[in-house]
Amino acid sequence: MKFCDVIGHDDLKRRLAAQIDAGRVSHAQLFTGAAGYGTLPLALAYVQYLFCPNRHDGDSCGECPSCRQIAELAHPDLHFVFPVNKREKRSGEVITSDTFIEEWRAIWHDTRGVFSTEEWYDRLDLGKTMKGLITAKESEEIIRKLSFKSYSAEYKAMIIWLPEAMNQEAANKILKILEEPWEKTLFILVSEHPELLLQTITSRTQEVAVGRIDVETLEQVVRSRGEHSEVEARNMARLAGGSLLELHELMRGESDEARHQYFELFCRLMRLSYTDNHLELFDWADDMAALTREGQRQFFLHAVRLLRESYMLHAGLGSISYLWGEEAAFCSKFAPYIGNQNIEILVDDIERAMAQIAQNGSPRIVFTHFALAVSKQINRL
Ligand SMILES: [Zn+2]
Repeated sequence: MKFCDVIGHDDLKRRLAAQIDAGRVSHAQLFTGAAGYGTLPLALAYVQYLFCPNRHDGDSCGECPSCRQIAELAHPDLHFVFPVNKREKRSGEVITSDTFIEEWRAIWHDTRGVFSTEEWYDRLDLGKTMKGLITAKESEEIIRKLSFKSYSAEYKAMIIWLPEAMNQEAANKILKILEEPWEKTLFILVSEHPELLLQTITSRTQEVAVGRIDVETLEQVVRSRGEHSEVEARNMARLAGGSLLELHELMRGESDEARHQYFELFCRLMRLSYTDNHLELFDWADDMAALTREGQRQFFLHAVRLLRESYMLHAGLGSISYLWGEEAAFCSKFAPYIGNQNIEILVDDIERAMAQIAQNGSPRIVFTHFALAVSKQINRL
C-alpha cells in the first residue's frame, strides 16, 4: 500500500516520509487512532516506504518486489501480530497470529485495511463474549522471528495491531524487547486505546497520532463514487466524524437491508421506552444480543446518529439535518422527546454500552441495562 492509497492525512504522510528520508527511524512507534481513520493502512504504507528501494516523490514505488510483497501482506521481513483466539481449542494446541494469516489477508483484501475490531472478531467466529488475545506464546514467536537475519530488506518490521489485547505476561515480554532495541528492527504498535497499555510500554515508544480524516477529503470520497448529490456528499462527510467506517455505512444508504434492520430496532426501542413496556424491552435486549458484534456496533452508531438528528430537528435545525425516507418520517415525530434534558445522557448511555460490549461484557446483560436506561430518559417527558 502506497501513501497515496491511504485516504487523507497528507501532512502526516509527508512528515513520516521526511523522517525516513532523513534516516530518523525510531525503533518503536505507537500509531494511535480509530480504525476508521485508516491508522492501520497508514502504518503499512510507512513500512512499505521504508522498505522500498525505489521510493521517490515522498512515496514508495508500488511496483518493486518489496512493495508487491507488502501489498500482499507476504513480505518475509514484515511480520504481523494481532489478537486471535479459537473456539473449542484442543488442549495443547498453540494458537498464534500465523494460524490466522489467511483470514488476516482476506479482511485486508476486502476492506483495504479499514475494518473494525468487531469485524475481525466476527471473522474469527469468536462468538459474542470470547476475547481476542495476544498471548505470551506470541511474544516468544516474535523473538524467534526477529532473531533470523533479514531476507531482503535492510530492516525487519513487526506490526502489532491492538497491543491493548496483550495479556500481562505478553506485555511484559514485549516490554523487554522494547527496552533493548534490536539493530535495524522496527516495532509498530497500532492502538485504538493507548490508555489501556502499560505506561512502561508507551513511554518506550514514539507516538504517531492519527487524527480524524478531514471533511473535504471524505466529501471527495463520496463524490468519487458518483452516486450522491453534492448536498448529500457534504452532509455525509460532516456526519462521518472523520471516520471512513462511518462514511461507508452512510453511503450504503437506507436501501441497505442491514441499515433498515438497525432502524427498526431503534424505533422499537424508542416506542417501548415511551410506553415503558419492560417485558418487551427484555425481548428487544435478547434480539440485540443475538446480533453479531459488528451488528451491535453498527446499531449503536445508527442510534447515536438518529438521536443527534432528532435533537437538531427539535432545536429547529432541521435544515442541516441529514435524514431521508423512513428515518425522516420517524424522527420528525420522535424529535419532541429529545432535548437538552436527555440528549447527552442518552449518548453517554450508548457509549458506555459500546465500551462494555467491546470489553466482552455479556450482551444480554448489557442490552437489558441499556434498554432500561433509555426507557428512563424517553419516558421522562
Ligand atoms: Zn517499491
